[in-house]
Amino acid sequence: MPEARVTPALPKIKLSPRGATRLKSGHVWVYKSDLLGADDVAPGALVTVTDQRGKPLGTALYSSSSQIAIRMISHEPVADFPALLRQRIGDAISYRQKLVRDTNAYRVIFSEADQLPGLIVDRYNDILSLQILTQAMDASLVRETTIAQLADELHPAAIIERVDPRVRELETLPSRPSGLLQGERTATTFTMNGVHFHFDALEGQKTGAFLDQRENYAAAAQYVKGDALDVFCYQGGFALHLARVCDNVTGVDSSRPALEVADQNASLNKAGGKEIEWIEANAFDLLKDYSATNHRYDTIVLDPPAFAKSKRDLDAAIRGYKELNLRALKMLRPGGILVTCSCSYHVTQSDFLEMLGSAAVDSRRTLRLIEVRGQAKDHPILLNVPETSYLKCVLAYVSE
Ligand code: SAH
Repeated sequence: MPEARVTPALPKIKLSPRGATRLKSGHVWVYKSDLLGADDVAPGALVTVTDQRGKPLGTALYSSSSQIAIRMISHEPVADFPALLRQRIGDAISYRQKLVRDTNAYRVIFSEADQLPGLIVDRYNDILSLQILTQAMDASLVRETTIAQLADELHPAAIIERVDPRVRELETLPSRPSGLLQGERTATTFTMNGVHFHFDALEGQKTGAFLDQRENYAAAAQYVKGDALDVFCYQGGFALHLARVCDNVTGVDSSRPALEVADQNASLNKAGGKEIEWIEANAFDLLKDYSATNHRYDTIVLDPPAFAKSKRDLDAAIRGYKELNLRALKMLRPGGILVTCSCSYHVTQSDFLEMLGSAAVDSRRTLRLIEVRGQAKDHPILLNVPETSYLKCVLAYVSE
């Protein structure tokens, strides 16, 4: 008698057979077009979702404006939402305590992958950076519970909120500025794999660093050597790791502010590293130029921004990746190492490997795959939610 267990207070939303099938397959999203009416349901409400006949399928968070109208939060009825939030936050923290090593910066909560859809929390040493992406997670009670629980479990010096105005607009939420929610400090330093970084909570892209690459930095450092070029280096994530093992390291990025932080990071790590040369340039132009003028390297890292923001961009994105990889392959000495990444969800791992194979053929090089990697374990992948898996990082050995 599943009906009897449903909290009577929760509004119900009926799904079309297609929406119900999606949930039964293990996905956690239902699109607006698969709702059979949600007229009286408040934006951001906790709801019971049912199939067409009214049979409960679980409990979800509702958005009145997003195309993703339903994000499941539990297979079960939920009587006490704040208690569930506290439990989910506790689970997310204990997962990291078990699996995350060699860092005091990592993603503490990764939205759907931690059964907390719409909430992202990153830890940078003693500062937490929080992002809220949905109506439900923006509700006062949810915010208060979340902040109190994070403070209670992690004792940060400060919690700051990073606001993406576009997300708030899409969710029809009133605008609000980024800023401190608790504590006073917005800057700190953090350490991953023994490499130190500056962090300013209110600057930079994403929530400050590309934490999803953390394990790939360490993996790459195992194989690289000689003269290294880190293309799309941002604040030096790969370059600083390479500097510990390579003879010469050059980092390239189009963002001057990112390179300024990269240079400060290099100073912070001086003891173990070398001078790193930072070049402000468009990577496409620089690679074209350098390959034409016979620059040669033993190691090249390519970590561009997402080229495919939607499925429509897929072909153009593949062409972009191919151009970069082709030029890099031509510039690598025999025995060299290519570290090549894509963070476009729409470019699948097999698309990416196919692109790389085709670049190898065109550059007349033979590539041996050393490792095919993804995002760090603090960005968990849910097997039934493909959208949680987005990062590809391929390490390959270049023969003649
Ligand atoms: N490898 C970095 C993350 C790179 S993110 C790390 O591990 O931290 C992508 C970077 O590409 C950003 O820093 C952005 O400024 C830079 N970028 C975007 N378009 C570029 C272009 N055309 N040429 C050079 N850099 C570019």
